[in-house]
Parts: sequence; C-alpha cells; structure tokens
Amino acid sequence: MRGAARAVIDTHALRHNFARARAAAPRSRIMAVVKANAYGHGIVPVARALAVADALAVARIEEGMRVRAAGIENPIVLLEGVFNAEQLALAAQQGFEIVVHSTGQLELLKLQRTAQPLKVWLKVDTGMHRLGVDPDDFVACLAALRSCPAVAQPVRLMTHLANADDASDPTSEAQIGLFERLTNGIPGERSIANSAGILAWPASHADWVRPGLMLYGASPLRDASAAGHGLEPAMTLATELIAIKTARAGARVGYGGIWQARRDTLLGVAAVGYGDGYPRAIQNGTPVLVNGRKAPMVGRVSMDMITIDLTDSPDARVGDPVVLWGKGLPVDEIAPRADTTAYELLCNVSQRVELEVI
Ligand SMILES: *Cc1c(COP(=O)(O)O)cnc(C)c1O
Repeated sequence: MRGAARAVIDTHALRHNFARARAAAPRSRIMAVVKANAYGHGIVPVARALAVADALAVARIEEGMRVRAAGIENPIVLLEGVFNAEQLALAAQQGFEIVVHSTGQLELLKLQRTAQPLKVWLKVDTGMHRLGVDPDDFVACLAALRSCPAVAQPVRLMTHLANADDASDPTSEAQIGLFERLTNGIPGERSIANSAGILAWPASHADWVRPGLMLYGASPLRDASAAGHGLEPAMTLATELIAIKTARAGARVGYGGIWQARRDTLLGVAAVGYGDGYPRAIQNGTPVLVNGRKAPMVGRVSMDMITIDLTDSPDARVGDPVVLWGKGLPVDEIAPRADTTAYELLCNVSQRVELEVI
C-alpha cells in the first residue's frame, strides 16, 4: 500500500481512441492535441503512445520543446504560434509549424531571416471571436504571408469551432460555410475540426483534424456518452482506503461538518483530495468506486483526503482500491457534480499524482 493517489494512463486506450478518430474522419490526417501536459495524462508518454499521429499539436513552444527533448520526431504544430523573435527563431530551428492568428505575428515573420522556411497555418476567426484574423483581413494577411521569404508555401489555412459540442447549434454550419467561402479556390491544406467536429460535423473534417479530448476517452459532445462513441477512458484516477471507522449517528464529518451521519455509518477515508486535483467543489454523494462498487463520497473534500460512506461496502478493508474516475466510472459523470467539464478535471490532476503508464 502506498497511501497516495495515482493516475493510471492506459496507452492501449489512447491508441484505441486515436483509431476511433481515424475511423470517424478517414480522409483526414490527424494532429493529436497534447497541450496542457496531454490534458493531464503526461505529454511525453502520450506523445510516445501516439507515434502514429501525423503530427502533434501543442499550445505553447515550451510544450513542443518537451516533446522534442524526449526524442519524439513527429511534426509539431504550435496552436497559438510564437510571440517574440526568440520564440520564432527557436520554432524555425526546431522545424515547428506555427499558427499565425494576428498581424503582430505576421510582422514578426516579415522580420525573420531563416535558412529553412517555416510551415505556417493562417488562422481565421469564423465566429469564435477568440484567436484568428478577421475575415475582412484574411486576403491581405494571406498575401503578406505569400510574399514572406520565411514562410513555406502554400500557406495552410485553419479555423476553430466555438459550439461544435452541441449538434443542434447552427453556429458550426455557419462557421464551416464562412471558412469555405473565404478559402475557396486558394491552395493549401485546411483544418477546422476538434474532437466534437470529428464526431458531429463531417463537413468540418477537411485535410487535417485536431482531436484532443476524444483521444483521452471523454465525450466531446453534450448529449452523448464516450462509450456510445466507442471511446475508452485513458486515465483512471485511483487511490486507496487509508482508514476505516464508524461515525456514530449524529456525528458531523470533516471540515465544517457539512455532512452528518443519520445512523451509525461505516466511513472510509481515501488518500485523495483537492491537492491531487479532486475538486473541492464536488457535491456530497458523488460516486466513487470502492473495490469496483459505487459508494458515495460524503463531507467536504480535504487537501489530501476524502471520506466515503461504506454502508453498502461492509467488506471494505484498509488498502482497498478506490477509483475517482476512469475505468468503470466515466469522468463525464463526475464533472457535472463539480459544475465543470471533463477537460478541466483531467487537466487539473496535480503534479504530486504519479502517472503510471501501462
Ligand atoms: C485544444 C484545441 C483542440 C482540441 O480540442 P478538443 O475539444 O479537446 O478536441 C483543437 N484545436 C485547437 C485550436 C485547440 O486549441
């Protein structure tokens, strides 16, 4: 027994989910999104497991450097591009592909003198209103990139969907339509789809798709389960029972005493808390798995511990396994209990949680 939480990372599930993305968008190449430490799964082991990916995509240059430092050779796309001349020179030296989403980044490129031209993705804002050049500026930005010696031709073209998780929201069709009108007849590879686009919006598949969440086995769609799309959880957040005791009827449990035993209650204490990324905001009664069977978490989440009502698991012993999410307990079922998403729960698994790659 170790008395600590760990995250078991299942490389078979990662590869299986990658194959689901391949099957869903069979004519597209895949840039596997491994930003934010591969959504908490460990950027290096995930990048290694997904060696079949046509490219890897990260948000920031430091993430790309971590992947390269591990000896991983796949093409790497910087989804937010570069923000100063040093980063641009480093990106050029490493052969990273960069997204250009602003005129400031365009100016950097114009000043750059590189031996080796960079592959550039021009990102246009088709309705998300976050990153991307304005549709009115698209033609001028493209022209500027075309006359830039530091840029490999043809320039690649991309946009990002704002509401693809909702299959009934008309925004996605409008975004895809605008992107097609803007880029019609222009040479160069195109990319639109995130995980939700891959599963719900075939018109968004284009030359390259950019799956993130689905690779990790959570559902990118509002009204669909991950299992319904054949996805398997890549992370199982697990720990152990480190103590078992009885709370007498009327006893208040944990900080603030927010939960009170109605009757004499067998309580388990498990070694996981908000210091591990199990959210403090999670509701009383959220299920955990004790020896594979559901039991409710009760009382307030502490930094290092939670308490569990073991009334229905009377055989539980100290050292027995507790699963917070993952195999047998989809993270998509847990996230709403903390008023959040699978994205945030997975990313928030903290540094002290050991990743056990299987
Ligand atoms: C994070 C990100 C993705 C992946 O999104 P998922 O919803 O996790 O599939 C794709 N494209 C861009 C630009 C991103 O920032």
